[in-house]
Amino acid sequence: MANRYSVLFEPVKIGPVETRNRFYQVPHCDGMGHLRPRAEAAVRGMKAEGGWGVVCNQETEIHPTSDLSPYAEGRLWDDRDVPALRLTTEAIHAHGSLAGIELAHNGQSAPNWLSRAPSLAPSETAIDGGFPKQARAMDKSDIRDLRRWHRDAALRARDAGFDIIYVYAGHHMTLAHHFLLPQYNDRSDEYGGSLENRLRLTRELLQDTLEAVGDRCAVAFRFAVDEMAGPDAMQSAEEGRAVVELLAEMPDLWDVNVAGWPNDSATSRFAPSEGYQTGYIDFVKQVTSKPVVGVGRFTSPDMMASLVRKGVLDLIGAARPSISDPFLPEKIAQDRVEDIRECIGCNICVSADTLGVPIRCTQNPTMGEEWRRGWHPEKIEPKGDEDQALVVGAGPAGLECAMQLARRGYHVTLAEAGDSLGGRALREGDLPGLSAWKRVSDYRVADLRQRANAEIFLESPLSAAEIHELGIPNVFLATGARWRRDGKGRSARRGLPIAPGARVFTPDDIMAGRLPPAGKVVIHDDDQGYLAGVIAGQLAARGLDVTFVTPAPVVSPFTAYTLEQERIQASLIESGVTLVTGHAVSRVDEDGCRAACVYTGRERSLDCESVVLVTERERDTTLHEALREAPGALRHLQLIGDAHAPGLIADAVYSGHKAARDFERTPEEIDSQLFRREIPALNEW
Ligand code: ADP
Ligand code: SF4
Repeated sequence: MANRYSVLFEPVKIGPVETRNRFYQVPHCDGMGHLRPRAEAAVRGMKAEGGWGVVCNQETEIHPTSDLSPYAEGRLWDDRDVPALRLTTEAIHAHGSLAGIELAHNGQSAPNWLSRAPSLAPSETAIDGGFPKQARAMDKSDIRDLRRWHRDAALRARDAGFDIIYVYAGHHMTLAHHFLLPQYNDRSDEYGGSLENRLRLTRELLQDTLEAVGDRCAVAFRFAVDEMAGPDAMQSAEEGRAVVELLAEMPDLWDVNVAGWPNDSATSRFAPSEGYQTGYIDFVKQVTSKPVVGVGRFTSPDMMASLVRKGVLDLIGAARPSISDPFLPEKIAQDRVEDIRECIGCNICVSADTLGVPIRCTQNPTMGEEWRRGWHPEKIEPKGDEDQALVVGAGPAGLECAMQLARRGYHVTLAEAGDSLGGRALREGDLPGLSAWKRVSDYRVADLRQRANAEIFLESPLSAAEIHELGIPNVFLATGARWRRDGKGRSARRGLPIAPGARVFTPDDIMAGRLPPAGKVVIHDDDQGYLAGVIAGQLAARGLDVTFVTPAPVVSPFTAYTLEQERIQASLIESGVTLVTGHAVSRVDEDGCRAACVYTGRERSLDCESVVLVTERERDTTLHEALREAPGALRHLQLIGDAHAPGLIADAVYSGHKAARDFERTPEEIDSQLFRREIPALNEW
């Protein structure tokens, strides 16, 4: 391996084990966990195949008092959980990588809905999550129990084949972290008070783990060096650094980041730069001689190599970049940097975990489908009997479909009405904070342009007659969807009464640069995704007097799943946007609109010169209908993406990908090979 990134491919010793390179997939949730162990193994195995020298699983419950149900995290309550975890270590070892496990006791972050055990905490406290339940302060015998559970879990993890075993104090999510932080710990015994006392539990857990498994396994410490919450909180300049100094040589590996999870997994909207954590973690290597891994949405090998050379990191940590491109290390090794499918920082992957469903990714439609559909991010079945395909529309769905069809070997013609490629990835990518989303089109356009069997036509709005003239018998229509102007949506299923002279705008107007005039504007967010909040921020920044009306109790509620909601609400408040929650616009007049309380129906008037309606989208199916009515010689006609079912960009990419994979399979085949499921065995254990 002799390219300019060869430093990234050096082996690194971690305690008693050695990783073959510096690419380290840090623990991340994937919605598979103990509920879907085969899918879990396949996700992790794919990362190892793609060249990640270390592949970790996700936070793994060590005891029923740390029960994160209904979420599907790792579980290692007792020996019965070992075989499922062994599937993962075997899948990782098959490619010569090391397997890591993040043992966790989640304390008061675990509501224990399944086990019904009382939650545990350093001190009496209300549990996380807004539930009317409290955690009980642990006494000395509880602490002894916890140490025993952790030790037993470490032994089981070793027996399951893991090479790196974690003690985890981060994200405000584990007992080790709760004991460390004064806001959770007001104990007056030797586990509370001074930093040395608050650190005692962590030290004991590290000691226990080293004694139990340290001869065969590396013991990693995952620690949030900074809470990013100001001087009263843990800061890397003070107590965060002191913790590293106090434990410096004790763990075999330091895995350092920031807390809480929304800060660690910050989206590109709020942390646009790669390496956004470096300023918090760069001191660690000066304090310890043990290897250090850190994250920061790294996708650029230049930055990775420079962080290693500058002595900031020994190992390049990644969760999202490894989800977006499991083959990132391989591509760097093969000098194919331009083929990297860069993470866009949208946190749709995170939303799957927070929704309790299998992981998905905007950029990588095969993520989460490795086992159940047998999809590989870099491989696709060669074409069958057909030779040609036409894809109409170059948004995320059309681009992905065209790219995968070209990879399968068809001669692909891609026609786009507009003068650019990317559809909504470009339109939305031009909005404030979303520029990284353009990577969805950048990656696909670059790939298609290299392919001799793909032809791209811009400014080519095709009609049904023109499609017949082209004579290509297989047609995929990715014609997208447009935001409605009539107010039809969740709160007004039959649309809104809108006065003829009223100034109404849609997100498509805003994205095309047609903005409401200066003055008062009401934004009606019946969509409740991210878009209305982005537009509100944009218009407020331009000096408009913005009122944001939402039927939800908070703004942009979907973004809670992507860990952004609180930031969005704060930024709208800070920008002077008036928030009217629990209301839906009920009519639009020339000089204002009315909004009704969603609970009482009571209406109020809102003064405004214009209204932006963010309600629903209307599919563009005109071409599909025309071709369906007169198919001529067409053999395959399929709607994909938003034209088929409006959703997230991730859904459009997935739809385009699936259509390309399914092409030339019969409907019976597609039906009978619907994804594999992990159906619980009817065993009593
Ligand atoms: P999706 O999210 O499903 O990919 P987009 O709305 O992003 O959908 O993209 C749809 C694309 O299809 C747009 O770029 C639009 O210009 C293009 N398009 C729509 N109708 C036609 C047509 N008849 N011929 C060519 N391109 C079209
Ligand atoms: Fe990155 Fe978005 Fe994929 Fe997550 S879903 S890995 S944030 S591109």
